[in-house]
Amino acid sequence: MDDFMRAAFEQAQKSFDEGGIPIGSVIVHEGSIIGRGHNRRVQKGSATLHGEIDALENAGRLAASVYRESVLYTTLSPCPMCSGAIELYGFKKIVVGENQNFMGAEDHLRSKGVEVEVIHSAECTELMARFIQEKPELWYEDIGQ
Ligand SMILES: [Zn+2]
Repeated sequence: MDDFMRAAFEQAQKSFDEGGIPIGSVIVHEGSIIGRGHNRRVQKGSATLHGEIDALENAGRLAASVYRESVLYTTLSPCPMCSGAIELYGFKKIVVGENQNFMGAEDHLRSKGVEVEVIHSAECTELMARFIQEKPELWYEDIGQ
């Protein structure tokens, strides 16, 4: 796990410690983190604040060119909503912690020319698996099931 995925994982751990869904994300531009976030559906009673959306929100309003030059890191394979935002803003590359607990819209992103690198992190996989085992109702609500 590199420093950027480590930062995303720390966001996931923070959410877990808050009783929320442990998915974290950071956005990296020119070697620096410009936005970080974690899933806040539970904490905020939000319908849309997945980790990736929270990171985008915390990065603030940016020029289109910044997104195209940025890499989005997320601890879990991005769902269709977050993949839609990744597509909309023209990210060329994302790095995914794991896709064993949930397979998101990776094929769709690849079909749009987005490079999707999956690092198969044991830490990301174990934290998410633990959460799903402990709080399955929160997890299935998060993915609309
Ligand atoms: Zn999502």
